[in-house]
Amino acid sequence: MTVLGNQAVRDIETVLHPYTNLAAHRDTGPLMLERGKGVFVYDSRGKDYIEGMAGLWCLSLGHGHEELIEAATAQLRKLSFAHLFNGKSHDPAVELAEALKGMAPTPTSKVFFCNSGSEANDTQVKLVRYMNNALGRPAKKKIIARDKAYHGVTVASASLTGLAANHTDFDLPIPGILRTACPHYYRGAQDGESEDDFTSRLAAELEALILAEGPETVAAFIAEPVMGAGGVVVPPASYFPKIQAVCDTYDLYVISDEVICGFGRLGTPFGCQALGFRPDSISVAKALSSAYVPIAAVTVPETMYEATLEASRRIGVFGHGFTYTGHPVAAAVALKTLEIYAREKIVEQVAAKAPQFLAHLRRLADHPLVGNARGLGLVGGIELVADKATKRSFDPKLGVGARCVRFAEEEGLIVRALASDTISICPPMIITPAEIDELFARLDRALARTLESVRHG
Ligand code: PMP
Repeated sequence: MTVLGNQAVRDIETVLHPYTNLAAHRDTGPLMLERGKGVFVYDSRGKDYIEGMAGLWCLSLGHGHEELIEAATAQLRKLSFAHLFNGKSHDPAVELAEALKGMAPTPTSKVFFCNSGSEANDTQVKLVRYMNNALGRPAKKKIIARDKAYHGVTVASASLTGLAANHTDFDLPIPGILRTACPHYYRGAQDGESEDDFTSRLAAELEALILAEGPETVAAFIAEPVMGAGGVVVPPASYFPKIQAVCDTYDLYVISDEVICGFGRLGTPFGCQALGFRPDSISVAKALSSAYVPIAAVTVPETMYEATLEASRRIGVFGHGFTYTGHPVAAAVALKTLEIYAREKIVEQVAAKAPQFLAHLRRLADHPLVGNARGLGLVGGIELVADKATKRSFDPKLGVGARCVRFAEEEGLIVRALASDTISICPPMIITPAEIDELFARLDRALARTLESVRHG
């Protein structure tokens, strides 16, 4: 058994860890990170790691960016806090709203600020309800989300999330959330089904669901362009156009959850542009501030705004908002982040580096443990399987994904194991070509050790 140091013991005694096997954590203890620079982080013993997950798909500009530190410090000195309640405002919020409105992939009237992706998607659920009440169609409230979706962990956003661990024993989902299939061709296709047949079937299933529920009761459809936490699921190219057509037919409000894909991750400004659909609204977070401070946002189209305006005339106040909605420090850092993206052409940078990144992923598809390797832009996943021919997964009790993550850490690389032993990779967008090669060299070594450990029990 590992002998845990003082730091580890203090952690175990005090911190309730999110998304952690709490029982195992008591034995293994934490990986204590101390400092970071660029794509590297260093633990308390000085060992370096490549941040292969950009933190949690968020640290787009890497650690220690002086301009972001400066933007935060300057704003903290100037106006440390101000809120947007009761009609108050401040420059950073207005300028950030203008910037987002100008770059949004969909006609946008207003921008609503939140602190996290979960709050953004919770806000989406509430706005959809509010709008349809204002439009005099109170029955049109159900929201369709997909299996394996990840939209957050608050009560409503966790209900949109399509992963069992986010529902079991939390008494979720709430009523009014409908579930449709996830476009995971490798896992979901029936025998001999082509990609085109597969996506036609999914669109037909979506339509059947809407018809069975009654289109007058179904309000919205929410989707991540590339699914992140559900296993880095990249849909076939024909998927979203067919899904969009069904949503259009039944007047569904389409929400693109751009919390991971927004701001260049897929090599386009927003993920919906890479995947070919036209949402009515987007949720953004994470890379909005390169994760330096918490901030998120929801775009509001004119029809939605008109409805909230009408409702607040009737009710007296738009009764939604967080203490930190549009926090000036967060807004100032986000504004600077967007300025850096534009100046350094981050979208073009990702598009230029993607072929090298994706070639490494394709190469890994030949590894004896890798059943499927998939990715787009600078995000990818490799699904580890017990039998490549039959696609048989490992027994989850073996913890093969977790083992690979541990070996990767020993090799100096931070990656994550998602459900079904999918190892996800999502480096800071500023990663250099040499660092991409180094990331995959470390992953190669981790995979070799995982294979060895699987073969020898
Ligand atoms: N949506 C997506 C697509 C996400 O990946 C996440 C977080 N991983 C969320 C929403 C929730 O964001 P947060 O953890 O900031 O609440």
